[in-house]
Amino acid sequence: MNFLTHLECGLCGKILEADKIWNLCPECGKPLLARYDLEAAKKVFKRKLLSTRAPDMWRYRELLPVRDPAYILTLGEGFTPLHHAQRLGKELHFEHLFIKDEGLNPTGSFKARGLSVAVSRAFELGITSVSIPSAGNAAGAMSAYAALAGIEAAVFMPADVPKPFISECKGLGAKVTLINGLITDCGKAAAEELKKFGRFDMSTLKEPYRIEGKKTMGYELAEQMNWQLPDVIIYPTGGGTGLIGMWKAFDEMEQLGWIGVKRPRMVTVQSDGCAPMVKAFHDRKEFAETWQNARTIADGLRVPAAVGDFLILRVLRESNGTAVAISDEIIMEATNHIGRSQGIFACPEGGATLAAFSYLRKEGWIKDNETVVLFNTGSAHKYSHLWE
Ligand SMILES: *Cc1c(COP(=O)(O)O)cnc(C)c1O
Repeated sequence: MNFLTHLECGLCGKILEADKIWNLCPECGKPLLARYDLEAAKKVFKRKLLSTRAPDMWRYRELLPVRDPAYILTLGEGFTPLHHAQRLGKELHFEHLFIKDEGLNPTGSFKARGLSVAVSRAFELGITSVSIPSAGNAAGAMSAYAALAGIEAAVFMPADVPKPFISECKGLGAKVTLINGLITDCGKAAAEELKKFGRFDMSTLKEPYRIEGKKTMGYELAEQMNWQLPDVIIYPTGGGTGLIGMWKAFDEMEQLGWIGVKRPRMVTVQSDGCAPMVKAFHDRKEFAETWQNARTIADGLRVPAAVGDFLILRVLRESNGTAVAISDEIIMEATNHIGRSQGIFACPEGGATLAAFSYLRKEGWIKDNETVVLFNTGSAHKYSHLWE
């Protein structure tokens, strides 16, 4: 069914067998990326085949890692709407502004894409128990797909995460552990229990397949824009899986002959209360330093250290992109602006992309005739405390 051939380390290039269970690269401890036989895929997997397929992310299954369709765990993730934000655009005097609304995914965020693929693949490889440290949305998504597979889910979240994130995991049957600390502390607590309970680690980029689910945002965007990518993509970056994933998707699509060489300039936006990628980008570093005292209302962006930091920074540089830090106050204003102008109840991470847009336009970095896509990565329904 698919063209998966092997895994390759994103840093040292080590090649590993795809049908064995791996977390990080056994040589250098960095993320592994899935590779496909794109030459062979090009001959049979044509763009026009897509019109015969269901409107969900599994329409790109030839370039997803699950080999046997019997293991696909799906709740209808992907193929979310790409809105031409005309009212908002008019207010801002900007014509080609688009919002990809990932809030419509199962469990209310784009985390569903990554975890649908990762849990399906884990299920196919015989894994019976999965574990995740999460700021909230990833935990809910993993709980949902683990439930669907009938495998055990253990989630570790900061104790100050909003209540709906905790309720969701409990309602979906996961074992919930709350930690006094940040996501990095949750990661440590989760790691301590892995061996003891025989759990598989589903942390962002610490296994090769979540990014494969998230890359489908890149495939979809190209398909929805009639195979013409936009000039700029603005992405709220935590662990960076979506950003790295989309960039990977663009390369794969070019090799499939689906798109040309044109690439969008990729923009990372973070909160100024936790901006390790923005700092590393402007300091021209290859790796980012851990951010101290990380604080932001945008829970998905409260990631003080990311294992894929060098991959994020590589994408920003290769694409001639940039990185912007925004205060929580301005993030909140922008979130409300999306709501009252476009009818989208956006999460603050999504609001941050509009704030970054306004900033970059004022700086002249975005030109009036360009096409810009903002990613609203989740719905605000689990963040209602922000309006209380
Ligand atoms: C996890 C999350 C992010 C960050 O996504 P990455 O791909 O890990 O950078 C952004 N927004 C929301 C709503 C999230 O849940």
